[in-house]
Amino acid sequence: MRHFAAPGRVNLIGEHTDYSGGLVLPLAIDRGIRLRVEPSDRITLTSEQFDGGVDVAADGSGDAPEGWGRYVAALAQELGDLGRPPAGMAGSLTSDLPAGAGLSSSAALEMAVGTALAALADFPLEPLALAAAGQRAERRAVGVPVGIMDQAASVLGVAGHAILLDCASLAHRAVPLPPDLAVAVLHSGVSRELEGSGYGRRRAELEQGLAALGGRSPREVDPDEAVAAARAAGVGDVAVRRVRHVVTENRRVEATVAALEAGDRPALRRLLEEGHASLRDDYEVSVPELDLLVGLALEHGAVAARMTGGGFGGAIVALVDAEGAEQVVTATAAAYAARTGTDPLTLLTTAVDGAGEREEP
Ligand code: ADP
Ligand code: MG
Repeated sequence: MRHFAAPGRVNLIGEHTDYSGGLVLPLAIDRGIRLRVEPSDRITLTSEQFDGGVDVAADGSGDAPEGWGRYVAALAQELGDLGRPPAGMAGSLTSDLPAGAGLSSSAALEMAVGTALAALADFPLEPLALAAAGQRAERRAVGVPVGIMDQAASVLGVAGHAILLDCASLAHRAVPLPPDLAVAVLHSGVSRELEGSGYGRRRAELEQGLAALGGRSPREVDPDEAVAAARAAGVGDVAVRRVRHVVTENRRVEATVAALEAGDRPALRRLLEEGHASLRDDYEVSVPELDLLVGLALEHGAVAARMTGGGFGGAIVALVDAEGAEQVVTATAAAYAARTGTDPLTLLTTAVDGAGEREEP
């Protein structure tokens, strides 16, 4: 038996910047998906958390599976397109990463399976090539045109570090997290069902605004210049605000990296607060529950907090003093429950290494 694992991720800052070639700053978290397999003629897998399974040929062909098996078959096909010899595997998956909570369980599934498929076929694959195959597989499997951030975070993760990723060049580097800070995730309990339509609309509005920059990247212009150019081009107020979010958010990612490296807590607090306000007011993807949760986290002692993920529900991320972190999370969750009647799913996490083969657990 061989063992493979891939972590989920949370994005510290850099939201809705990936699809315009911007900066993101995710970290791989200490929750993920593990895979226990042995070589086989076909790909046959079961999951402890999900019904159904996969039974396809070693190149991913055959009756298209339903449910989560679609990700597995699609990934095997994508790797086949890259030249992976069709070596199969049989085994099972287990997970301590909540699915559908915005922590990228789908990417963790793809990266665990992809790492295993590459290893069992002795097929060397660069981490980012695997991430890109996962991104294409997700589109092939469920038709969602995701960015590359989730898969990249799951393969590039470095213990104790966040990953600064340039979504245009795919250049990346590990940014050390201050050892005296812990990372907390609190889920609002609001599901992201509306995300499908909202996400597409935001992308279209942003495109409209970016067109006014005359081919310049939103990273090459300063915020005032971007707003002036968009107004001069006559695009509507909504598109102007979408552009302003992206231009300012890229700058906040760079400033957050500097603040982490300097251990500057007031700067971290301000940057995450500004990031949240920009997502709420300019990009309009927050919901009252996320605003409330961020406010409560700060009130109960978090160093910094903002919504994380695409929005329309989902979770917040908070930086908390490692000492007494549990107390901050518990108090925030209790206050949120008292106000909304919803007990938020909470996670106190550390940054871990990315996907790979593991010793027997
Ligand atoms: P997220 O990636 O934010 O967790 P998604 O809706 O993108 O949410 O992905 C969730 C899907 O990933 C699940 O519906 C399932 O198909 C698959 N998945 C997640 N965890 C597992 C698991 N432990 N076993 C099998 N499939 C899983
Ligand atoms: Mg997903």
